[in-house]
Amino acid sequence: MLKHLVFKIKSTGPITVAEYMREVLTNPVKGYYMHHDMLGERGDFVTSPEISQIFGELIGIWYVSEWMATGKPKTLQLVELGPGRGSLTDDILRVFNQLGSLLNKCDISIHLVEVSPKLSEIQALTLTGGKIQPELDVTSPVYMKGISKAGIPIFWYRELQDVPQGTSFYLAHEFFDALPIHKFQRTEKGWREMLIDIDPEAPDQLRFVLAPSTTPATEHFIQSKEVRDHVEVCPDAGILIQRLACRIQEDGGAALIADYGHNGNKTDTFRSFRSHELHDALIAPGTADLTADVDFSYLRTMTQGRVATLGPLKQHEFLKNMGIDVRLQVLLQNSSDKAMHKHLLQGYDMLMNPKKMGDRFHFFALLPHQRLAHSDQKVNLRHSKSLSATVAGFGELVWK
Ligand code: SAH
Repeated sequence: MLKHLVFKIKSTGPITVAEYMREVLTNPVKGYYMHHDMLGERGDFVTSPEISQIFGELIGIWYVSEWMATGKPKTLQLVELGPGRGSLTDDILRVFNQLGSLLNKCDISIHLVEVSPKLSEIQALTLTGGKIQPELDVTSPVYMKGISKAGIPIFWYRELQDVPQGTSFYLAHEFFDALPIHKFQRTEKGWREMLIDIDPEAPDQLRFVLAPSTTPATEHFIQSKEVRDHVEVCPDAGILIQRLACRIQEDGGAALIADYGHNGNKTDTFRSFRSHELHDALIAPGTADLTADVDFSYLRTMTQGRVATLGPLKQHEFLKNMGIDVRLQVLLQNSSDKAMHKHLLQGYDMLMNPKKMGDRFHFFALLPHQRLAHSDQKVNLRHSKSLSATVAGFGELVWK
């Protein structure tokens, strides 16, 4: 990867941080995500669905609750962006199965958007036990399909645009933070983009430099009202959120986005992780994860009012509202295995403790305007805070 990047920079000049992230993470030949499993204790980072089954179960309940709130549509497409090992969808499907009597008249299908051949192989194993068929029709945007253990069809795509339209419930957990960002710095001469160049002192090392003049990105991506001195912008996230907002506006459904992030106030969050430790983002590219905090205020702006947004709400509040305490008690009561108890309690602490994931991760939702307007008429609530109380997770879950 380093050789490839050095060659690229020598041929066309310093590259943007966005181009660097895109190459390092998803280059088809050597990209970090493409050919190995980086999740879990033996990998580089661990995510909530890998820590505790309760996480995915509560998310599953969120989808059932939203599906009911939108009038129980006859079809339900669950679309997950960047499903990792497939554990989250697996836990959600277990909930769908347990609530079979509610969902039995609904035509459910699973649609996974994944670029990594290695991770899609693992997802297929988790979700279907390996019962998959490669798609032989080269004109089809589906590159693999299978049937879940409970008989639900699963389809794999490389991009959201390939997923068929229709009432869909979207999920993105630790996905937006992997999308490429541009970095900018305010200077005496105005905004300048941060680029990546070869270090003249060490030809096999990379370093950050500031572009000597404005670049097209500086012109287009910085908002006039910006007050920070250092800004990260993720246009890919903006485009994706616009697409999600258009789909939800047209076809109904909802999107739940969970990630670490901020509300438009943080500055320098681009970083790298290897074996659970911070790592120099420019050293040994392709062997470590690259990430940047998600700017939820930017996502909200980019919906352009097409949908209502809720959040970002801290993970511990969201999970509490979803009933994590009750679920934990049920699981503890159902098992007499001491190791299982320890695992459940440690998982709970990791997800909920404000010093661990509880405060760092946030939940953000896109919903059709009618979803909130409906509750507005019914209970005559005026404030958006009160309105959010009628959506599970953002307010307390109430089963009707
Ligand atoms: N959601 C999972 C995995 C998070 S890691 C979890 O929480 O455990 C990020 C995931 O997004 C991986 O599956 C990775 O392969 C996928 N990914 C990263 N960039 C992508 C892109 N541009 N398009 C589609 N998938 C992508």
